[in-house]
Amino acid sequence: MAAGEAVPYSKTGGLADVVGALPGALAALGHDVRVFLPYYAATRKSGTKVKETGVTVSVPMRGVPVEALILERRNGPGARVYFVRNDTYYDRDGLYQGPDGDYPDTAERFMFFSRAVVAAIQALQLQPDVVHCHDWQTGLVPALARGSSNGTPIIQAATVFTIHNMAFQGQFWHFDMEMTGLPWSTFTPEGIEFYGKINMLKAGIVYADVINAVSRRYSREIQAEELGSGLDGVLRARRNDVFGILNGVDYEHWNPATDPFIAATYGPDDMAGKKRCRQDLLAEFGLKVPDKVPVLGMVGRLTDQKGLDILTEELSDIIKLDTCFVLLGTGAPEYHEQLEKLARRHPGRIGVRLGFDNGLAHKIEAGCDMFLMPSRFEPCGLNQMYSLRYGTVPIVRATGGLDDTIAEFDPLSSAGNGFKFVTYSGRALLACVRKAVRLFGDKRAWSRLVANGMKCDFSWASSARRYVELYRTALKRHAAHLPAR
Ligand code: ADP
Repeated sequence: MAAGEAVPYSKTGGLADVVGALPGALAALGHDVRVFLPYYAATRKSGTKVKETGVTVSVPMRGVPVEALILERRNGPGARVYFVRNDTYYDRDGLYQGPDGDYPDTAERFMFFSRAVVAAIQALQLQPDVVHCHDWQTGLVPALARGSSNGTPIIQAATVFTIHNMAFQGQFWHFDMEMTGLPWSTFTPEGIEFYGKINMLKAGIVYADVINAVSRRYSREIQAEELGSGLDGVLRARRNDVFGILNGVDYEHWNPATDPFIAATYGPDDMAGKKRCRQDLLAEFGLKVPDKVPVLGMVGRLTDQKGLDILTEELSDIIKLDTCFVLLGTGAPEYHEQLEKLARRHPGRIGVRLGFDNGLAHKIEAGCDMFLMPSRFEPCGLNQMYSLRYGTVPIVRATGGLDDTIAEFDPLSSAGNGFKFVTYSGRALLACVRKAVRLFGDKRAWSRLVANGMKCDFSWASSARRYVELYRTALKRHAAHLPAR
């Protein structure tokens, strides 16, 4: 498996949670899994004990050989992890971005990473059955593994490519072609070229034996223009090889009964701890509201994708429903400003923390009554599944994985685990929150809703089994696809 990030070594979003957990779940099913990751400054500082494998790979980048040391994690649980260490590329404070945005050598860093992974698989003589790559940072791997145009594969393995977000594609100008390690014959509309540019996500889609998106609904949505980010046609051309396995939840890290970050632990049979978590969260943000006022929360990247435009538009009206709101996130500077302004306008009712803080993310899951995810699109979404387990009711827009995991609560039958709205608009969001706030006043109905959510099981065990089936499919299709390039 290869990816740009994985918990507990590096993280910017859900990808890290997935790559942190899936290998262990596969190992538990008896598979031998090795994970390749860049060795970032964050990894070095995480205290991960590493040892040298004795393998150094060398990749010619613009004619100059560039080396990486392949390190191995020592004594960790679960699957084995290899780190690609090149301090010039990866020993930086951000994973993908510095204070001024994307690093200017982004293309070089991840073209190198993809090539170093392929070289390391060979040098370590791993002989995998399947190589599973995630997102554009590793999109070249399926293409590289196929080898030269004479049909001799470099790695005799089936390839699986998981798309966690179609909106991030790794597009770079054609002058970088030499750094991909691929022949110019691949720079065509049928290959990795996309409107005159190199597109690394497209490389994964075109050359992998099978493609997976992280929920059923998202796997269909990205085959249509609205959410296809220009690659919907490319995906449709491969529709028989596109699957949609939902991400699982790592309940070892996200479990209110054992969570070390929260003020008091709790479970479905003893909810007293959740009350304490709520008080603790309000204190953390300096807010004071009576019990009857629901606390709404949100954690995530502050971008248009996450619905920040409709949220900021309606937040004052949401507060006027006699609610209180806390948010943790970083992202677009204009949202930072707007949120801070709203917090000043509603002192004691809105708490905003602009930053990345895993411990606080756990406290928000535990301390809130409701969790907002008004996303414009959401490939899978993890926070709504975490919220369910923490007895925090998700209010989501019906898109992607949010639509697949959340069912609208029906007060008559008491079925359902949250609230959903369909139209992407501030008014629809506000109406949905109003419905939730009204039900919050009905303590019996609310506890049934909370209990329904806490019972939901999105553990990795079942998703990992589905991945194993997908790997078997990939092996079959691999035999049929060769030699394709
Ligand atoms: P995405 O991958 O699109 O960012 P997901 O919902 O799939 O969204 O996953 C986001 C993950 O990142 C969750 O585990 C969430 O708790 C975490 N996260 C996002 N922003 C922050 C933040 N500012 N501080 C701490 N954790 C965060």
